[in-house]
Amino acid sequence: MERTFAIIKPDGVERDLIGKILERIESNGFKIVAMKRTLLSKAQAEGFYDVHKERPFFDGMTTTMSSGPVVLLVLEKENAIADWRKLMGATNPADAEAGTIRKDFAENIERNTSHGSDAPETAAFEIAFFFSQTEIHSH
Ligand code: ATP
Ligand code: MG
Repeated sequence: MERTFAIIKPDGVERDLIGKILERIESNGFKIVAMKRTLLSKAQAEGFYDVHKERPFFDGMTTTMSSGPVVLLVLEKENAIADWRKLMGATNPADAEAGTIRKDFAENIERNTSHGSDAPETAAFEIAFFFSQTEIHSH
C-alpha cells in the first residue's frame, strides 16, 4: 500500500467542492487515512513549497495557498501517488484530460483546486509536514 498527500486548495473550498472531490477520491479506490480542514499561514505555505522557492510564481502561489481554508488529506491505495495525480489531471486545467478534477473544477493554473505529491520522497515529506503518525490510521 502506498500513501500520498493531497490538498483541496482554497479555490476548491471556497466554491464548496469538498464533498464532490472527496466523493471522487473514495469512488476511485483511495482510502482517506487522515484529514484536516485548516488555514495555512504564508510561512507554512512557503515551507511546504520550499522546492519551488526559486520559481517566479512562488510568492503568488504561496499567497494563494494561504488565502483561505484548505483540506489536507493522506490517501492510501496501491500506486496512490501516480493514481492521485492522474485523477487530478494536468497542472494547467486547460491541458487536463476530460473527467479529471482539474478539468472539471479548476479555473486556471493558479486556482487549480488540488495538490498531489509527485514522488515517494515528496509524499513522505509532505505527510510529515502536516500530520503526526498518531493522526494517521489505515482502515
Ligand atoms: P501541485 O504541486 O500543486 O500538486 P503540480 O505538481 O501539478 O501541482 P508544480 O509544478 O508542483 O505542479 O507547481 C505547484 C503549483 O504552483 C501548481 O499547482 C500551480 O498552482 C502553481 N504553478 C505551477 N506553475 C505555475 C506557473 N507557470 N504560473 C503560476 N502558477 C504555477
Ligand atoms: Mg507539485
